[in-house]
Amino acid sequence: MTTELTHYIDGQHVKGGSGRFSDVMNPATGEVQGRVPLASVDEMNEAIARAAEAQKAWGATNPQRRARVMMKFGQLINEHMDELAELVSREHGKTLPDGRGDVQRGLEVVEVCMGAPHMLKGEFTDDGGPGIDLYSMRQPLGVVAGITPFNFPAMIPLWKMAPALVSGNAMILKPSERCPSTSLRLAELLKEAGLPDGVLQVVNGDKEAVDAILDNETIAAVGFVGSTPIAQYIYGRAASNGKRAQCFGGAKNHMIIMPDADLDKAADALVGAGYGAAGERCMAISVAVPVGEETADKLRDKLVPRIEKLRVGPYTSEDEVDYGPVITAAAKERIERLIGSGVDEGADLVIDGRGFSLQGYEDGYFVGPSFFDHVKPEMEIYREEIFGPVLSQVRAGTYEEALKLTMDNPYGNGTAIYTADGDTARDFAHRVNVGMVGINFPIPVPLSYHTFGGWKKSAFGDLNQYGPDAFRFYTKTKTVTARWFSGIKEGGEFNFKAMD
Ligand code: NAD
Repeated sequence: MTTELTHYIDGQHVKGGSGRFSDVMNPATGEVQGRVPLASVDEMNEAIARAAEAQKAWGATNPQRRARVMMKFGQLINEHMDELAELVSREHGKTLPDGRGDVQRGLEVVEVCMGAPHMLKGEFTDDGGPGIDLYSMRQPLGVVAGITPFNFPAMIPLWKMAPALVSGNAMILKPSERCPSTSLRLAELLKEAGLPDGVLQVVNGDKEAVDAILDNETIAAVGFVGSTPIAQYIYGRAASNGKRAQCFGGAKNHMIIMPDADLDKAADALVGAGYGAAGERCMAISVAVPVGEETADKLRDKLVPRIEKLRVGPYTSEDEVDYGPVITAAAKERIERLIGSGVDEGADLVIDGRGFSLQGYEDGYFVGPSFFDHVKPEMEIYREEIFGPVLSQVRAGTYEEALKLTMDNPYGNGTAIYTADGDTARDFAHRVNVGMVGINFPIPVPLSYHTFGGWKKSAFGDLNQYGPDAFRFYTKTKTVTARWFSGIKEGGEFNFKAMD
């Protein structure tokens, strides 16, 4: 049975009117399980216009009241945790514990937004001059947009909507057309939590809908997460249309393993960070960089049995599984092609995950785990973000060589070092040109009261996602300089001439 999906506009499910749809697949079976409408330019413009109307009252609502909506929303997310995780897994294919993690990491940002009044309060200078006070306030931008990827159907929409809404904006959320259902359900829960109709509009679509957002004059800011080429495109078009934009892109995350590292712990971490969620995480480790031939040989010996033990299957499996299918048939095909290119270019394919088939799920998009050793930086498997269950080992002779490799990589989302030496760890954290660094920690996604963001080609624009940066991104600062003459004492008028 296929589900007919909708948009969520003015607090209601609305059928698509463009006549264009996209199939929502079940990645475990390869079957169509739903149809999502793709909005036309007119549909998008209409949703934006109505959001602008709704924003007026919402923006004028005091921050504490807006924060109370977040409190109720957080409570509802908790109550519906299993249902939301199931929605995530059904369309994405990730395991249920991973689906729950997806919701949980989003919920943590909602929790920070419960304290938004503190983040939104301005600054004050008393007696900046005779009778003069200065104060600044953070005001909402108006209508903002969130454009999100398939790989975290709950977490990233929540990272976008919670800070944007609690800051007094209305939001147009354009989720991935491959996994749209979680966003639609979250919009229903927000309504139940007390969000006025029209303040969050979930408008489904593809490039046409995105371009309509980028060209619409009412949209004040765009928060994007997805692949690097699209991030760069969206940043350019949004910025040239005068919008504030922060666009987060792809990654190629390296983990350096020093000779003094606990190699069992490093191997465990690499298997979790490399293959979890089928490698479809922007913070996945896809490159292991052991320092020294001996470290590399030992690490390989520890990795191989662990990788061979990985269990791959659908999220509905009664047996425990480590990861599920990749998102589409095209993704599977691309990953397998890239593995082939690694072989052609001379890398040592120690474990080959191609041609993986699961009884009863022969048409699912499953890819077995692959492990390459002796990968060189010029190879395609090193240069491309594979976004699949493939780990490459690049051997480095020295720490400096491993650091240089990490720094020369065009991406800069996350990185990690495994070592027992504090000086090396500290040196790495200081010098590496990557936004998020783990020390004996493989996936250093910062907690929700810090902020998340990569460097180099992993992010375009300014400020990070969630935490204090999100409140800066979703508000504009106005500074008032006020003079009250009763405060000026006799002869106390500031003599500006004296400053010349
Ligand atoms: P994607 O770039 O294909 O799609 C992201 C969004 O952009 C979707 O909503 C999609 O509909 C839209 N889109 C796609 N093509 C477009 C086009 N030509 N014009 C306008 N809009 C377009 O990304 P994806 O495959 O959904 O997600 C995976 C990517 O996201 C990976 O590269 C991953 O590393 C990255 N990612 C980055 C972060 C981060 O914070 N840096 C987090 C998660 C995922």
